[in-house]
Amino acid sequence: MRRRAAASVIKRAPARPTAHHPAGNGAGDPAWTWDEPRWRAAVNKVRAGRSLKPACWKNGARVCVALSFDSDHETSTLREGSTSPGRLAQGEYGARVGVPRILDLLRRHDLRASFFVPGVIARLHPDEQRRVVAEGHEIGMHGWIHEGTSELTERSERDLMRRAFDALAKITGRTPVGVRVPSWDFSATTLPLIRELGLLYDSSLMADDEPYELVDDGEATGIVELPVEWIKDDAPYLNMNRATAIRPYTAPSAVHEIFRAEFEGALAEGGLFLLTMHPHIIGHRSRIAILDELIRYMKGVPGVWFATHEEVARYCKAAVA
Ligand SMILES: [Zn+2]
Repeated sequence: MRRRAAASVIKRAPARPTAHHPAGNGAGDPAWTWDEPRWRAAVNKVRAGRSLKPACWKNGARVCVALSFDSDHETSTLREGSTSPGRLAQGEYGARVGVPRILDLLRRHDLRASFFVPGVIARLHPDEQRRVVAEGHEIGMHGWIHEGTSELTERSERDLMRRAFDALAKITGRTPVGVRVPSWDFSATTLPLIRELGLLYDSSLMADDEPYELVDDGEATGIVELPVEWIKDDAPYLNMNRATAIRPYTAPSAVHEIFRAEFEGALAEGGLFLLTMHPHIIGHRSRIAILDELIRYMKGVPGVWFATHEEVARYCKAAVA
C-alpha cells in the first residue's frame, strides 16, 4: 500500500520545473512518454561548448595540476538534518586536523590550491578561511549548508547562493569567483544563477577532461567549466558512513595508483589534472601520505604548472579568446 501511495505522489509531481518546484531532476511523468522537443530541451539546458584547452600552459608547461579541497566539515552531517554529535565530530576532524595538515603539506611543497567552502562552514570556522587565504590559496563557493541543489526551488537556490557568496566575501575579504555545487548536484537553474552572480567559473560538471565554455540553453556564456570526476575524488574510495553502505573499500595505495594514472594521462595529452579531496577524508595520516607522495612525483616531472582553479580559469579564458 505504501509503495502504491508513493507512486501516485510521483505521478502528480510537476512535469517541468517552475518557479515554485524543484528544478533538478525533473521527477514527473515517465521519460518514455516525453516527445522529442522535451528530451532535447532537457539535454540542451546546460551543455559543453567550445573547448578552452590552451595550446600550451603557462610558461610553456606541459600539464596543469589543479588541487582542490572541499571543506565540507560538519555540513556533511548537517545537510541531512542530523545533529548527532558523534557524526558531527567526523566532520570537525576536517577543520581541526585535516585543513592544518593540508596547509602544512602545501607550504612544504610551496603550492597553491583551491578550497571550496559552504557558507555555514565559513561562519563556523572563520579563522580557518582567513588562514587559507593568507597562505595564498583560493576560496570558492560550495553551497550554504551543503544542500542538495536539485531539491531546491529556484527561489531557495538563489537565496542560498547569495547568502553563501556574501558570507565568503565578508569573512575572507575577497569576492569568490568560482563555485563547486555541493555534491556536484547542478540543477536546471544553477547556470542562470551563476551568471547572475557574475562568476568566472564552475567546477561541478563532467562533460570533458579539459576546460570548456558553458552553454546555457544554446547561448555561450563565457563561463569556464573546470570539469570534475568521481574518479579524481577521494570520497568514493575512502569515505565512511556507518549508517549506509559507504565504506573505504579502496586501499590508499590503490587510490594513489589511480590518481597517478590520471596525471600521466593528462601529461601525455598536454591537459588538465584536476583533483578533488576533502580535509576530513584525505587529512588522515595514512592518506595525506599518498597526497605527499603524488605531489613529490609530479614535482619531479619537468613542465608541470600547479595552479589554483581561478588561475586555470583565467589563463584558459585569455589563451583561447
Ligand atoms: Zn562537498
